[in-house]
Amino acid sequence: MVGVDDVINKLSTVIDPDLNKDIVSMGMIKDLDLNSGNLKFTLELTTPACPFNEQIESDVRKAIDELDGINNLDMNVTAKVMEGRSLDADEFMKGVKNIVAVASGKGGVGKSTVALNLSLALAKTGAKVGLLDADIYGPSIPLMLGMKGTEMDVEMDQEKRKLVPPEYEGIKVVSFGFFAEQEHQAAIYRGPIISGIVKQFLVDTNWTDLDYLIVDLPPGTGDIPLTLAQTIPITGILVVTTPQEVASSVASKAIGMFDKLNVPMLGVVENMSYFECSKCNEKHYIFGKGGAEKISEKHNMPLLGAIPLNSGIMEGSDLGKPVMITQPDSPSAKAFTAAAKNVAAQCSILAAKLQEEMQAESAPTTN
Ligand code: ADP
Repeated sequence: MVGVDDVINKLSTVIDPDLNKDIVSMGMIKDLDLNSGNLKFTLELTTPACPFNEQIESDVRKAIDELDGINNLDMNVTAKVMEGRSLDADEFMKGVKNIVAVASGKGGVGKSTVALNLSLALAKTGAKVGLLDADIYGPSIPLMLGMKGTEMDVEMDQEKRKLVPPEYEGIKVVSFGFFAEQEHQAAIYRGPIISGIVKQFLVDTNWTDLDYLIVDLPPGTGDIPLTLAQTIPITGILVVTTPQEVASSVASKAIGMFDKLNVPMLGVVENMSYFECSKCNEKHYIFGKGGAEKISEKHNMPLLGAIPLNSGIMEGSDLGKPVMITQPDSPSAKAFTAAAKNVAAQCSILAAKLQEEMQAESAPTTN
């Protein structure tokens, strides 16, 4: 007769391709119950946005199929995003499981566009997502969402004395652009003050529970992005670049600086990678090819996605209508979705690494 340990042993042969670990030791099997050949359990994936979710589910079904004596499988598939940040003593922003900071070497490469559409793509998978537009010198998210400056009515939770972030298509959004005065004053502030303001925005917003908070950093390698990346317990940095040599060499410099400061890196997203012609269906590499690939090889970090050039992205931004919402089946939206899944997978990988480190630290030492 098949027993619970046979089931566990069999399930241990299923490997999560991202984490490179078996699903049992990763704690993904919950509430297992075996009764007269009727097997029931929950498969708890590490993120609803994992690119391998379907594969893992089908591998589990195949493994169980191979067991003799199982008449019926009742598998409930859920996802619980892993905690990807080590919280400091005062548990900075507890409840926010992952913070992904989006950086770029230079302005105009589409950092905000990528931050926004990745947030929307993650939310579409069912994850709880927030977006902080911390690009204090040029907050563009309100324009891209059709939420304009002072017209934006940001509420205060009087009891908790925190901002209640407005929601757009399921994501919670806060931007410096909502507060026009700060926006104009920003130009006169220096890095440490701005970093302080950004931290205040992070802490004084009632994000409630979030799986991913995407932070659109100011561009460049100035002291603001560097200070922020060091002082906020983030899961990792995502760098946006375009294929041109001039953009990728600055992006590479930015990555080098984050690396020196030991800030964890998630990977690189190449924006405006190519133009897909609707007449000939061919990809044209208008700005050159392979820029981001070179960066990913040089810095040994994943290339998380390549987003095509699409006039709909630009027009949508100007009209306050992001492409993920207006053209969800377009190649650009599909590229954002693929990139979002890779971002989520990298967050799970970094989270698993972090948990391992924390376990190693707390493990009793033997002499
Ligand atoms: P950054 O935040 O790096 O300064 P933005 O996200 O503001 O850059 O983008 C700069 C401009 O490029 C915007 O007008 C935006 O709509 C446009 N843009 C960004 N990505 C694309 C793309 N893939 N295709 C077409 N236009 C794009």
